[in-house]
Amino acid sequence: MPQGLQLCYPDAYARSVEARIVALELEPGPAVVLDATVFYPGGGGQPADTGAISRTTDGTTWRVRTARKADGEIVHELDLPEGAASAGPPAVGDRVMAEIDWPRRYLLMRTHTALHVLCGVVWRDYGAQVTGGNMEPGSGRMDFEFERMSGELVGDIEAAVNRELAAEREVRVAVLPRDEAFAIPDLIRTKINLLPPGIAEVRTIEIVGLDLQADGGTHVANTREVGSIRVTGYESKGRINKRIRIELVDG
Ligand SMILES: [Zn+2]
Repeated sequence: MPQGLQLCYPDAYARSVEARIVALELEPGPAVVLDATVFYPGGGGQPADTGAISRTTDGTTWRVRTARKADGEIVHELDLPEGAASAGPPAVGDRVMAEIDWPRRYLLMRTHTALHVLCGVVWRDYGAQVTGGNMEPGSGRMDFEFERMSGELVGDIEAAVNRELAAEREVRVAVLPRDEAFAIPDLIRTKINLLPPGIAEVRTIEIVGLDLQADGGTHVANTREVGSIRVTGYESKGRINKRIRIELVDG
C-alpha cells in the first residue's frame, strides 16, 4: 500500500482534506488510515491532533480522539457516534472529510514555535543545550544543560524571547538529504545524532537568524503569530539540568 499523503509536514496550515479510508483496525478500538490526512500524529513533545472525520455520502461523523504513527502511517483513533442508532465504524473505501481541531492545533503551533525561540535564545545568550521538552496547547517546558541558570535570569530570558518574537522572524521548513543536514554545526548541537541511523532525509525548522533544529512538528510561519510569552517557572532537575516553563500570554 503506498503511504498516505501526510499534509501536516509540508503545510502546517492545512486544516481539512478529502480522503478515502484505506485501512481499518477494530481492536482495541476503531482506528483508520486515510490516503491523505491533515492530522499530526504526535512526537517531539507536541501532542497529536484531535478532530473528526465525516463520511461524504451520509454525513456520519466520528470524533478523532488522537492520532499516532505506526509503520510510517498516520493512524486515527475514533470514538463511535453516540446513541443506539450508532452507525458503527466506517468502512474501507468510504470517502470522508478529515478535519483537525484547528484552534487547538494553531495554539500548539504557536506554543511549539515559542519553545524554539526559547531554545535559540538560551543557546545564543548562555550556550546551554536543550535536552528535552514537552508542551500542551498554550504552555510548555524545556530542559537545558544550564548550570548557571538562576531565578535572576528568568526575567532576562523572558525579555529576550519576547524581543525575538516581536522581531517577526520567518520560520522556514526544509527537508535536507542526510549528509547535508549532518554537516550543519547548529543541527549537531540539537542532538541530530540521536536520529535513527537509517533515515535518508532530515526535516529542519529554521527561525531565521536565531535557531535551526531537526524537527518533525508543526510551527507557525512567522514569530509574530506567537504574540508574547511569560516564563512561569524554573526548576532544578539536578546540578546541571534546569527546566524552564513558559506560557503564551493570550494562550
Ligand atoms: Zn519544532
